[in-house]
Amino acid sequence: MTDALEHLRFPSVAEAAGRTIGAEEVEAVTRVLRSGMLNSVWGTETRALEREMAALHGVGHAVAASSGTAAIHLAVAAAGPDPGDEIITSPITDFGTVGPILAQNAVPVFADVDPVTGNLDPAAVESAIGPRTKAIVAVHLFGATAPAELRQIADRHGVPLIEDCAQAWLARYPDGRLAGTAGAIGCFSLQQWKHITCGDGGLTITDDADLARRMRLFADKGWPRDKGRRHQTFGLNYRMTELQAAVARAQLAKLPGVLARRRATAHRLLAELGPLPGLHLAADVDRHAWWLMPIVLDAGLPVGNQEFASALAARGIPARPGYLEEALNHAPALTGAPVYGSSRFPLDAGHAPAACPRADQLVGRTLVVLDWNEAYTEEHVTAVVAAIRAVHREVTGR
Ligand SMILES: *Cc1c(COP(=O)(O)O)cnc(C)c1O
Repeated sequence: MTDALEHLRFPSVAEAAGRTIGAEEVEAVTRVLRSGMLNSVWGTETRALEREMAALHGVGHAVAASSGTAAIHLAVAAAGPDPGDEIITSPITDFGTVGPILAQNAVPVFADVDPVTGNLDPAAVESAIGPRTKAIVAVHLFGATAPAELRQIADRHGVPLIEDCAQAWLARYPDGRLAGTAGAIGCFSLQQWKHITCGDGGLTITDDADLARRMRLFADKGWPRDKGRRHQTFGLNYRMTELQAAVARAQLAKLPGVLARRRATAHRLLAELGPLPGLHLAADVDRHAWWLMPIVLDAGLPVGNQEFASALAARGIPARPGYLEEALNHAPALTGAPVYGSSRFPLDAGHAPAACPRADQLVGRTLVVLDWNEAYTEEHVTAVVAAIRAVHREVTGR
């Protein structure tokens, strides 16, 4: 045994030690069960969660959904693409960003990303815009806001900007605005791996009453509960349950604390590490949501992300290469598999997603992600700093 730190346990979001689930959540679930009302149409918890989410973000409306993917589906449906219309998004994201675009019979158009942040490159988005573009879905990757300029681009072309904030709870733009409030709609996830969780769950926020109404109808079978029993529009059942909502309310109350703790340890890490030649770490500690801690290697380093992540993992650090198996423009779901039955509609028979070489470079060669967690202590940070320094020294000889 050469290094005692090798045995330090890192709490993860997959266990109680790395989650903020406590007496409040137990009380919340019990309260709902005792009430006998588990459904949000007649219950009070989901509506209260929506009010609290809207208030937290200073917007007029929030609509709950059964997952983050469902929340994005509400947003895409509200944007109203015609079948075959295009929606621009990032190839480095969860499939939950892309699936809803196909589900609304729209074509996902991938624009390339910044080689360091992995967020959409505004110039690439601008050049991907065509006559059939109906929306832009920006992803705030790992908790760093995508460029605010995307809003101006969306405005200039008369299409809504949808913000996928699943990884960016309480992230802030450089001007101080919260992620999710710069575009027409912000979408959030409460899935197990996110900052706060109720197992699965989603929320959308908007200041636009018409978009909010459309999303609410889509989440509830097109049924305007306050105005009779006729199904006004096509919709599905994407409702959150009262059990989910009660837990999510307790978690939402803890969210500022979760962010404060993740930011404090990220701050410590970056301060102790200082600049290391050949490595790029995220900055803007207090705006970043630190869902993960990305490390981007210079493409010219003698080792790539596989080796770098393995070397960190060998030292007991929860590090992985690439974040994705492949950028999503290469996923079989988009390159050849049928979408509905044997049909590839809305994709043309010969449809091939655009190349995104900078996304490929990140996933395949330069991007390493470390799990980050609000339960990390000084000891964890010290261990991560020591491991990054050691691997960096090995790799660069410095
Ligand atoms: C998690 C995630 C989603 C999907 O959310 P689910 O709640 O898992 O459906 C969408 N986009 C991004 C960027 C995510 O990280």
